[in-house]
Amino acid sequence: MEISKYKVSPGKKVNLLNCQTDYSGDIESKKDAAKLLKANIKKMAELQDMLYAHDRYGLLIIFQAMDAAGKDSTIKHVISGVNPQGTQVFSFKQPSAEELDHGYLWRVAKAVPERGRIGIFNRSHYEDVLVVRVHDLIKSQKIPDKFTYDIWEKRFNQINNFEKYLYENGIITIKFFLHVSKDEQKNRFLKRLDTPSKNWKFSAADLKERASWDDYRKCYEEAITATSTDYAPWFITPADKKWFTRLVVSSVIIDTLQGLNLRYPEMDENQKKNLNTYREQLMKE
Ligand code: AMP
Ligand code: MG
Repeated sequence: MEISKYKVSPGKKVNLLNCQTDYSGDIESKKDAAKLLKANIKKMAELQDMLYAHDRYGLLIIFQAMDAAGKDSTIKHVISGVNPQGTQVFSFKQPSAEELDHGYLWRVAKAVPERGRIGIFNRSHYEDVLVVRVHDLIKSQKIPDKFTYDIWEKRFNQINNFEKYLYENGIITIKFFLHVSKDEQKNRFLKRLDTPSKNWKFSAADLKERASWDDYRKCYEEAITATSTDYAPWFITPADKKWFTRLVVSSVIIDTLQGLNLRYPEMDENQKKNLNTYREQLMKE
């Protein structure tokens, strides 16, 4: 799969209205997609095993999106075949009182994966330039007034610096914006209302957020434009067809891991000799 199509080049001004939500490339059916996803998951599991053995790099995968764009189900399906011991998922909700007493990167920094692991963020520090901006929550963050001018500009820089710091320490960040259309969101909300086992997923807050659709779109455009970098790129992923979203996400993960030149640790001559000795010992018993 060609993934460069979804990658936002550094400095390129993003206009989400020009990015298709219902694209599915040359994949003809859900069934074909399922086959391809299965192969991707197998490949990811192999790479994750090597990531762990190599123990130099970690991978941080960030998911951001409007409600009902499929963050949870993408995480569930894409990560399903990977060794659970090698992955971790963190979901970021409204910050607690304790979290608000720290800078906004505090809670995310604690959740960043260690070397050898894949860490997933279901929402992230980007909420602090999205929901906080759309609903003007900056006051609740208790930042001294003298630092609140140009706050979004400042935060974009802080985020870029943070992600560069991670990169230069071996933790690679990739970021997915799951791009769903307003119509498809409506369909999914209606399904949640119509299906008893999905009722719990719907909340009145979802309608409030939907009413701010255009504000969110603009904030996303600015945030993605300002923070898609060589070291932590954004991928605008079509999300009207969930099976296609999963394929793009898994393909990007594979491509990123393959780019790290992962290897199993090599034994030096001495260690190899030891292996022979161990083998001989075992054979004797
Ligand atoms: P959900 O993902 O549906 O469980 O919802 C989590 C909610 O927490 C969303 O409405 C987010 O916008 C909100 N949230 C996450 N991070 C922040 C933040 N830093 N400030 C305010 N709200 C946040
Ligand atoms: Mg929700």
